[in-house]
Amino acid sequence: MRVEHDFKLDFDDVLIRPKRSTLSSRRLVDLEREFKFRHSSTTWKGIPIISANMDTTGTFEIAEAFKKNKMLTAIHKFYSMEEWAGAIKSNQIDGEYCAVTFGVEEAENADDFFKYLKSENLSTPKFICLDVANGYTEVFLDLVKKIRDKFDNPLIAGNVVTGEMTEALILAGADIVKIGIGPGSVCTTRTVTGVGYPQLSAIIECADAAHGLRGHVISDGGCSTPGDVAKAFGAGADFVMLGGMLAGHEESGGKVIEKDGKKYKEFYGMSSDTAMERYYGDIKEYRASEGETISLEYRGPVDKTVQQILGGIRSAATYIGAKDLKNMPKCISFVLKYK
Ligand code: 5GP
Repeated sequence: MRVEHDFKLDFDDVLIRPKRSTLSSRRLVDLEREFKFRHSSTTWKGIPIISANMDTTGTFEIAEAFKKNKMLTAIHKFYSMEEWAGAIKSNQIDGEYCAVTFGVEEAENADDFFKYLKSENLSTPKFICLDVANGYTEVFLDLVKKIRDKFDNPLIAGNVVTGEMTEALILAGADIVKIGIGPGSVCTTRTVTGVGYPQLSAIIECADAAHGLRGHVISDGGCSTPGDVAKAFGAGADFVMLGGMLAGHEESGGKVIEKDGKKYKEFYGMSSDTAMERYYGDIKEYRASEGETISLEYRGPVDKTVQQILGGIRSAATYIGAKDLKNMPKCISFVLKYK
């Protein structure tokens, strides 16, 4: 047994220290980034915020709203190939701003998925996201290698929270490693299993590991305010993935509930009883639920929330004198809050 004695930080353990700045307006802050990847030969330019691949937020409707801002959507894995084809044909989604998600099982069909869209003369999603709750297994590393060998798409793999596993995934073929175990707003992993890692420290440590290898990281989970998103970028995240902040909107999935004349929308974790019952028909005996189900007050179209998030990041960058997202980690100092 070993105990690590240095402090690890979550978003709400710190604030961003303001600094003198020559930027005269937040309008001057550039939120777009252009990426070259470690393995994939393609490049990507856009605002590196990703709607999470949960069935409530990784929807075609969110993708339709997000592409207008050149933001990404990790489409959830429960759409059929025909549904994908329909969304591409009708121009609802743009492959350039989408990732297709596969778990270990669905990845078997990755070939068929791309072949099918190509046979229909349709564009294909730019990113492939290999997503498992626990990215520390040998099986997962093998899967990353296998998919890397077959596809040139930028490859996202996760989730992990430590530098050495980030490096292992990048060396196995991932371009972008997804960071986060336990911080999600409807995630109960920390209470059910005791496993987790404070998200701000996870980003700082994993970004450091990834950037040394010309890889990238996504901060996934735990952002509940635009300020948290700014902190994640400042800590070194190349991309930030959001679930709860995008749930409850017109374009989000989830049942609409009316209570006392007020409208609510359901939001739940992908390992919650709600999701397991919906997609697998039952809850396997050996599995504890690691997600919860909540109802959120209906929040209208997602565009307004997106503008608030982008405005918050622009303002944070102005406070520290960062002219663009890429410069935020260089310009940022965090101050610890005393609790
Ligand atoms: P949020 O932005 O809501 O804080 O976090 C979103 C992230 O929570 C997702 O991208 C995913 O990584 C994680 N997540 C979603 N559902 C579950 C779940 O049921 N259990 C756990 N442990 N994590 C979840």
